[in-house]
Amino acid sequence: MLLNRIRTVTELRSELDAHRTNGSTIGFVPTMGFLHEGHGSLLRRAREESDVVVLSIFVNPLQFNDETDYEVYPNDDALDDRIAAKYGVDIVFNPSVAEMYPDGTPKTSVRVSDVTEVLEGKYRPGHFDGVTLVVNKLLHMVEPTRAYFGEKDYQQLAVVRQMVADLSMRSEIVGCPIVRDEDGLALSSRNSLLSADQRRRALSLSNALQVGQHQFLAGVTDPEMLVSAVREVLESESDVKVDYVAAVDCDTLRPPNVLSVPFQLLVAATVDNVRLIDNCRVEG
Ligand code: AMP
Repeated sequence: MLLNRIRTVTELRSELDAHRTNGSTIGFVPTMGFLHEGHGSLLRRAREESDVVVLSIFVNPLQFNDETDYEVYPNDDALDDRIAAKYGVDIVFNPSVAEMYPDGTPKTSVRVSDVTEVLEGKYRPGHFDGVTLVVNKLLHMVEPTRAYFGEKDYQQLAVVRQMVADLSMRSEIVGCPIVRDEDGLALSSRNSLLSADQRRRALSLSNALQVGQHQFLAGVTDPEMLVSAVREVLESESDVKVDYVAAVDCDTLRPPNVLSVPFQLLVAATVDNVRLIDNCRVEG
């Protein structure tokens, strides 16, 4: 199948306007490329629920608070084409940085307060401002019926939902479950940066989440106690540096005084120099 790869906003709009005139629904999956089956699950859902599926591939410099992280971010057009074709993507929107930001850094900011101020927001200054700006722009460019986001980036999903609600944007935001490798490691484009040994140590993230779930089921309802048990698993692995472990309310992302189901357990840690995040819902 020949992929329809579009690089300009003008071309994207004219193609999508034609579909909209026909009454077609548009499903949109925004990504930074180097696609894997986690992205695939979003594309599958979009394909099931939409007449036209649009995939965007854009590594957004504005959401990287660490320049090296941006520079080493993996890319592979052939891989992306294979996955896009496998899931029946109709349009791949793959703009350049100049196409997305023709005047350099935009002078308009889109800032969501509160839910951005904890967790990732604390450790990656400016990250969510970059995310909300680019997602806002992409939603204006594509104007999808539905846009699909992974729970892998749990806080990002909450931030996007808040932005779309606050700005009365039309698109419905659909959250999709985390896809994991057989051993439990959450799929991520960044996993390709891990050596075999680092990948083994990275398993401490999903293992730690499981320990947290077991602790709760064993009767631990004090958030601090549960968090320290999870942290201990991560810290017992060599050269895994923990940014945070948090047991929080699923919507506000703030820690409750006493844990009750459901709550969300989130971890962020750096394995040598690769930063990874993972989370799970504890439902009892
Ligand atoms: P990224 O390319 O990392 O920006 O991710 C693009 C979208 O795919 C985001 O909505 C992510 O949350 C989602 N995603 C990434 N990894 C996974 C995964 N393992 N399972 C489900 N969704 C994922």
